[in-house]
Amino acid sequence: MAIDKDAYQKIKTELDAVGVTLVAVSKTKSVEDILELYNLGHRDFGENYVQELVSKAAQLPDDIRWHYIGHLQSNKVKLIVPFVQLIHGVDSLKLLKEINKEAAKINKIINCLLQIHIAQEETKFGMNEEELNDLLSKVSVERLPNIRIRGLMGMASFITDLDQIRKEFHYLKGLFDVQKSFSIQSNDFDILSMGMSSDYKVAIEEGSNMVRIGSLIFGERTKY
Ligand SMILES: *Cc1c(COP(=O)(O)O)cnc(C)c1O
Repeated sequence: MAIDKDAYQKIKTELDAVGVTLVAVSKTKSVEDILELYNLGHRDFGENYVQELVSKAAQLPDDIRWHYIGHLQSNKVKLIVPFVQLIHGVDSLKLLKEINKEAAKINKIINCLLQIHIAQEETKFGMNEEELNDLLSKVSVERLPNIRIRGLMGMASFITDLDQIRKEFHYLKGLFDVQKSFSIQSNDFDILSMGMSSDYKVAIEEGSNMVRIGSLIFGERTKY
């Protein structure tokens, strides 16, 4: 398997022109594929599974910025905290506290995004607006000096109806703008991670500044 260099260059140019960060989602893909993209100058890579991420990080150059985009279990936090750049899918105070605790042990500050459930499909992952407000009010009274909440992340419905997908992204951008305006250190609340291979153009039109793209660059995945 090889990466689609033309697709990568095209997307990268398109995103650079509008100041959107590209996270290349390399889950299930080989270390060789990742190196191929690395050698084109790419540094931001996203993975969904802790063991896979830990194993790849150990084999690849340490100036890669690893994004954890899957659902993180509290007992796995310590495995990725030493090297992770940004954790996209945080959706509980318990998890934030665990990240804070493990980060404090090694004297790091970990950037986190809060995951919001915007899709029609039922899933256990992501918060609604009320849960988000509740979590943020609790965070403001806890002392969590070793985490930094940098913004929000969401996944639209797995459907082809782009109007519906646009509505979901629009809603998430609205939540993001409200929190950004409340945020005391609003300069720190600056990342809106939304958009994948099938919907990143709509996401950018709706205000995304970070997209997570896998299959367009690395080809279709056969497993998970
Ligand atoms: C797999 C995955 C992506 C990338 O999906 P593609 O459709 O291959 O671009 C983006 N975000 C998350 C959270 C994922 O799990």
